[in-house]
Amino acid sequence: MREAASSDRVSALPAPAGPERATPRRSVGPLLVLVLGVAGLALAISLAIGGQPPLHTASAFAAATALVWCARALQVRDNLIHDLTAERMVLQASRQQIDSVSRAKSDFIANISHEIRTPLGGVLGTTALLADTSLNDEQRAYIGAIRGAAEGLMALLGDILDMSKIEAGHLTFERSPFDLRKLAEEVIAMFGYVTRDKGLVLNLAYPEGTPRVFFGDPLRIRQVLTNLVSNAVKFTASGEVRIEIRARPTVHDEAHVELRVHDTGIGITAEQLPRIFDSFVQADASTTRRFGGTGLGLAICRALVRGMGGSLDVESQPGSGSTFTAVVPLTVASEHDLSEKPGKTTTGGRRLTIVLADDNRINRTVVLALLERAGHTVVPVENGLAAVAAVEAQAPDIIFMDCQMPVMDGYEATIRLRETGYTAPIIALTANARADDRDRCIAAGMTDYLTKPIRPEDLHLALQRHALAPPRPASEVSAAQ
Ligand code: ADP
Repeated sequence: MREAASSDRVSALPAPAGPERATPRRSVGPLLVLVLGVAGLALAISLAIGGQPPLHTASAFAAATALVWCARALQVRDNLIHDLTAERMVLQASRQQIDSVSRAKSDFIANISHEIRTPLGGVLGTTALLADTSLNDEQRAYIGAIRGAAEGLMALLGDILDMSKIEAGHLTFERSPFDLRKLAEEVIAMFGYVTRDKGLVLNLAYPEGTPRVFFGDPLRIRQVLTNLVSNAVKFTASGEVRIEIRARPTVHDEAHVELRVHDTGIGITAEQLPRIFDSFVQADASTTRRFGGTGLGLAICRALVRGMGGSLDVESQPGSGSTFTAVVPLTVASEHDLSEKPGKTTTGGRRLTIVLADDNRINRTVVLALLERAGHTVVPVENGLAAVAAVEAQAPDIIFMDCQMPVMDGYEATIRLRETGYTAPIIALTANARADDRDRCIAAGMTDYLTKPIRPEDLHLALQRHALAPPRPASEVSAAQ
C-alpha cells in the first residue's frame, strides 16, 4: 500500500527540467555489429593477401562494408551513451524532486504538529491543574474524559511525527544505561488498571540470572514494549498477556535481548500476517470500528527495532492468540554505570528563582502554576527580549525559555545571555521534537530542552538535574556564531 502511494507521488511529479527524455534505440547490439565488422575486415584482408584479381575487388568491397558496419557500430554506441547520460540526468532530477517533496512533507508535518501540540498541551496542562482542585464526582469524570481524549490525540500526533521522522530517515537513537527489568515492570504497571478492568492476567517473566542493566535507548525500547503490550491487551478479551524477557550473550558484553509479548487474544490470520507491519494497515476493515487505532503502531515498532539493529516478528493462530518477538542487540552494563548517570542531584527543598519565557498565555499559566506549587518564585515574561531584561534584574537560578516567540525568539535571547557571560541553566521549551531543532537549542547555548506539552514530572526532573548542578565553565557555554 505504501509502495503504491509512493509510486503515485513519483508519477505526480511534473516532468523534470533538463535534457529531453530520450528513449534508448532498440537497434542492433553494438557489440554484435562490431564483431561482424571486425570479422568481415579480417576476411577481406585474408582474401586480398592470398586471392586472385577478381578476389581483390570482392575483398575491397567486403573491407568497405566492414568499415561501414564498424562506423555504424560506433555511432550506435555513442547514441546509447548519450541516451543513458540523458536518462541518468532525468533520474537525478527526479530523485532531487522526490527528496525535496519528502523534506517539504516532513517540515509540514513538524510544523502542523507544533501548531497542534501547543494548544493541546494547554488543554492537558489546564486539565491537570483543574483535576487538582476540589471537584465533585461528576466533574471529575468529565475531566477524566477530556484528559483521555487529549492524551489519545497527543499519542496519535506522536505516531504521525514518528512516522514522518522514519520516512525522512531522521531517526536517532540514544545510548545510555538503563534497568530493563524496571522498565518492563513500569510498562506492566501502566496497564494494570486496564487489565484489571478486563479481567486479564498480566505477567512478566524475567528469568533469574538475566542481566538487568544494559546500554541502549530506554525510551525507544519502552515505546516498542508499550505498543506491543497495548495491542495485546486491546485484542485479548480473556486469558493472559505475558511479557517474557531473555538475553542471549553474543560476544564480549553484547547480548541479543529478546522481548516477547504473548497474548491469548483474537489472533491474526495467515493472510493478514504479512501486512500488519505496513503503515496504516489493520488486519481487517472492522478493526478500527471495534478496537480503534490507526495501524501505525507496528510499522513504527518495526522501524524502531530495525533502527536499533534488531528484528520484530510475529506468530499467531486465529482464535488462540499472538506472540510478537522483538530481538534487540544491547550491551550489558552494570549497576555502577546506572549510578553514574547524570541527573541525580536534587533541589533539596531549595526555593529557586525562575524566569519563565513563553508567549503562549495558557502554556505560561500551566508551567507557572506547576513551578509555584513546588514553592519556587517565578518571573513570567512573554518574549526573549523581556527574558534578557528579567535575567539582568533577577539573576535567576534557572530559565525556562520557549523557542519561538515574537520580538525576540528563545535562540537569540540565549545567545545574547551567553555572550554577556551568563552561565546558569537555560532549558528550552520546544514544541519541535525533531533532532535538528534540539541541536539548534544546544548550539544556541541552551543547557537542555523539554518537549511540549510539558509534563509536570519532566519539569521537576529538569529542576533536579540542573538547578543544583555546578555552573558550566564559560568555555563550554558557547553561543552560536
Ligand atoms: P493499531 O493497533 O493502531 O490498529 P498496529 O499497527 O499496532 O495498529 O496494528 C496493526 C494491526 O495488527 C491491528 O489493527 C490488528 O489488526 C493487528 N494486531 C496487532 N497486534 C495484535 C494482537 N496482539 N492480536 C491481534 N491482532 C493484532
